[in-house]
Amino acid sequence: MKWPLSKKMETSLLTCVIHKSEQITMYCADHSQLCCSKCFELYHRLCLQVTQAARGKSTSFKNLSFRTENTLSQMKQCQTYQEDRMMSLKVSYKEHERLIVDGLRVNIISYLRECETSTVNTTHEHMQYPISEMREGIKNLLADFEKSTIKEKKEELNLIQAPLKVLINSCIRLHYELFHLHVAIPKVLGKELSFIASKKCLENIQQSDIFLKENFPNHVFTVNGKSVHNVKMPSDSEACWITAVCALPNGQVLVADTFNKKVKLLSQQYRVVSHLDVRDEPPDMCLITPTEVAVAVHDEVQFITVSQSQLAKSRKLKLQHYCTGIAHNQGDLYICSGTALYKFTLSGELVCRLYEDSSADLTVIKCAVSPTGDKLYITSYQQHKLLTLARDGTLLATFTDPALCGPSGLHVTPVGQVLVCGRQSYTVLQVGWEGQSKLTMLATREDGVWRPWSVCYCSTTSSIIVGLYRDDNILVFRVE
Ligand SMILES: [Zn+2]
Ligand SMILES: [Zn+2]
Repeated sequence: MKWPLSKKMETSLLTCVIHKSEQITMYCADHSQLCCSKCFELYHRLCLQVTQAARGKSTSFKNLSFRTENTLSQMKQCQTYQEDRMMSLKVSYKEHERLIVDGLRVNIISYLRECETSTVNTTHEHMQYPISEMREGIKNLLADFEKSTIKEKKEELNLIQAPLKVLINSCIRLHYELFHLHVAIPKVLGKELSFIASKKCLENIQQSDIFLKENFPNHVFTVNGKSVHNVKMPSDSEACWITAVCALPNGQVLVADTFNKKVKLLSQQYRVVSHLDVRDEPPDMCLITPTEVAVAVHDEVQFITVSQSQLAKSRKLKLQHYCTGIAHNQGDLYICSGTALYKFTLSGELVCRLYEDSSADLTVIKCAVSPTGDKLYITSYQQHKLLTLARDGTLLATFTDPALCGPSGLHVTPVGQVLVCGRQSYTVLQVGWEGQSKLTMLATREDGVWRPWSVCYCSTTSSIIVGLYRDDNILVFRVE
């Protein structure tokens, strides 16, 4: 740290990022960009606020250093997160592969036994096919199968891991560049160089921030606006209870209104444009495709399609138990019964029970899944807990906080950000993807959050939509 600034670093600081043979001499305040003479000729000739870099005013070192350290730490965490996903994929593929090979092995062994018995019984003294030969042949088959399966699976795994590798490399590169600037800045002498270094540092921070926003589930939302929208219809006999909200990619929104036994389609301006009556009270709903949702109705799952602003019922699944919560991820359907979490296929076949807690009522009320399916989140309403499970149902983390009482609705954004609302604490929180820490309080009673029951993030409109208990309004928070 005490070594002086190297000549190499000084040269690199002064070099234009786009034109590697040019030196930075100017700064354009219109574009907030450092420029060389080529940059100026090409992009900034018409700009009004271009100044000599030597006359620039650098950002306060203290402020810059604080921001840099914060960004560096988040980039490091983001890298860990991506590596964790990579590892989780590897583990799940290894497990999958092992199961296939084990299955094959069992089949071959039983086949061999059959051969042995029948051969011994029928030909007794004159064996036409020596068992040793058969065994050898089958062994070879098995070896071939293992080899091809492994090869195929490895290729599949590589294909899925490739984009993650790209992300990890970007993470490392951005971190490396910013770290070097961070170390260099205190050593920079001279007003011009100091100005250039601080601007370069800010540019790197901005790039990293954009990267984090798109790839890091612990990127914290900031709320910068709120609107209230009435979703009651003239035909509604009761006050609304919005138990679920689903945002469609086109910006339209579906809400499940339990007291009125309806699923309502809202326009991009949150006006009810269509609705469908369902058989019973719908406690939850989840997106299956951009134009299809699955609605939990008592002990059934009713699929509903959206086409040209009209809703239509399609197939349904019959369950053996009541359904309080439902979530979907890559063809897997997760269903809460109130005290257990089950995994189903989309065709309604039960895969397994992932988790159960019968020590109280409503211990498993709603669920959500991380984008890659490696983390499952469930809310335990009675016990005021948010639980995080691994893909196989192993409990990984339990989150409790005075700011989260009576947790009900929860949602995971496409980036993996975890949102949960507390019906009794009148709060909407963002929790870390590990399910262990509160990142921020997005909205409280002061923001009009009154007995929140459901929450959903819409990336098309960058907003968080909150449904309330016994209230005709939904709340929409614009976020960044
Ligand atoms: Zn340039
Ligand atoms: Zn400019």
